[in-house]
Amino acid sequence: MIHTPKRTGLLSFLLPSGRQKPLLNGIDLTLTLIILILTSLIGEIFALLGFSDPNTVTILILGVLLISVVTSHREYGLFASVASVAIYSYFFAEPRFSFKVVGLNSAVTLTVTFLSAFLTSSFAAKIKERLYAASRTAYRTNVLLETNQLLQKESDRSGLLRLTAAQLNKLLRRDTLCCEPGEHGLLPPVVFRESTDPDLPRGPSPDTLEERAAARRAFLGNCRTGPTTEILSGVSFLYLPVSGSESYGVIGIRLGAEPPDAFETNLIQSILWQCILALDQESLSRKRREEEARVRTEQLRSALLRSISHDLRTPLTSISGNAALLLGQSGPLPPDRQKQLCQDIYDDAVWLIQLIENLLSITRMEGGDIRLHMEGELLEEVVTEALRHVSRDARDHVIQVASQEDFLMARMDSRLILQVIINLVNNAVKYTPKGSHIWISWKRQGDFAAVEISDDGPGILPQHRDKIFEMFYTADSPSGDSRRGMGLGLALCRSIIQAHGGDISLKDRKPHGCIFTFTLPIEEVHLHDESTHSDRRR
Ligand code: ADP
Repeated sequence: MIHTPKRTGLLSFLLPSGRQKPLLNGIDLTLTLIILILTSLIGEIFALLGFSDPNTVTILILGVLLISVVTSHREYGLFASVASVAIYSYFFAEPRFSFKVVGLNSAVTLTVTFLSAFLTSSFAAKIKERLYAASRTAYRTNVLLETNQLLQKESDRSGLLRLTAAQLNKLLRRDTLCCEPGEHGLLPPVVFRESTDPDLPRGPSPDTLEERAAARRAFLGNCRTGPTTEILSGVSFLYLPVSGSESYGVIGIRLGAEPPDAFETNLIQSILWQCILALDQESLSRKRREEEARVRTEQLRSALLRSISHDLRTPLTSISGNAALLLGQSGPLPPDRQKQLCQDIYDDAVWLIQLIENLLSITRMEGGDIRLHMEGELLEEVVTEALRHVSRDARDHVIQVASQEDFLMARMDSRLILQVIINLVNNAVKYTPKGSHIWISWKRQGDFAAVEISDDGPGILPQHRDKIFEMFYTADSPSGDSRRGMGLGLALCRSIIQAHGGDISLKDRKPHGCIFTFTLPIEEVHLHDESTHSDRRR
């Protein structure tokens, strides 16, 4: 895979100065010549206009200053100092058009001109070097900061490695690559080309057997390979192992004719360290997440086993005990007794069905296997329907339905929301003494419909409130029912409500009791739709 990224901003502006040009290079020579010719011409104009010599000398010194500033080596300033003295001597000092120095005055003028030009060029070169060093430091800091910020945004290994290779490519203006480990050794390299210009000549392919061997060697041996090292130095990329608490891969940098200078080497090292640090952090948090998931699965598994072996045994023993009693009876049982035994068998069976229903639903919800059939439903209808299916024990409680808003419609899968309401009302029945009150109401809350199911039972202790919606969590509330709950009902309610984009919460009711509230996205009422919904329900 080959990337040719665009270079933008500060980095691309600063980088060209990052590499030293050779001493004799066309640009510096041309600039020097042009400036010398220009200053000579201006001096000539001054002479024609009859200006005094100091003006001409000043122009020549200015030219030297300019050359020191615009060229890349201080030697050009030195050369310009000598050249400007020669120009002055030949073109402007008497006798003109000769290098002869006549009289002390001329000798002093020439010496002073040379010294001034030389000192000026030296100072200019020094100031330029300082500025250059300062700009490099600022540049390095910026680069590292930018890399750090980019690395923090990446969250997976492959992204971190690629980002580092891309960043090095952008900064060094050299081809870079990265190789990640795969199942059978290193994967083919992802290459970041030095130039975006398709007309520019490309270096040799990094995907040759030799290059691959050097990359593999760097990865396996955790050492640098390629040019500037002693291992496989004939290849064109320098391979750097990216290894911290694990071996994450290899980064390659094409060196070509110019090996990196001290500044570049330092930059490469710093960026590599940042990358390794980010990869180590990613690896650590991945391991932590995996460990948490493992512990959670283990907890759920043992809770499920415990519940099945313990909680299901009670109703099953009761069913088989009652059935055995009915079967083993030689004579007929009194009708009341017989009815009671059948009723108990029926209640236990219904309880088991409800529990298995919850267990199945929650596994499907958590596994994402459930498809919601969302439709706008009138809350009043859904609540009325749910109340038809609540536990028979609800007859010993006072249930009041008080809607604050008629015709409030919410978007829901009514099958599942029925299960939520039934679970909440059954809990309110199960965990409150006979004669307790249960209130069901609903109201609009912004874009949501909030349904509230509250009771005046003993309530739930504060230490249980945070965990009450977790699977298999039971708060040991005194129950009017001999069967122990499995702690699935509220977890299922939460999964269903969250799948609807709503929320479920528990509050304390004053002076005692619980208030469970869940929200569902609202659906605006279209009056002509109402009949359809009512008809469907019937
Ligand atoms: P289960 O009822 O099967 O135990 P749930 O998830 O429905 O599981 O409830 C979890 C726990 O929350 C229950 O064990 C019970 O202790 C507590 N609880 C639920 N609803 C109420 C309520 N209305 N009043 C008091 N305690 C409740």
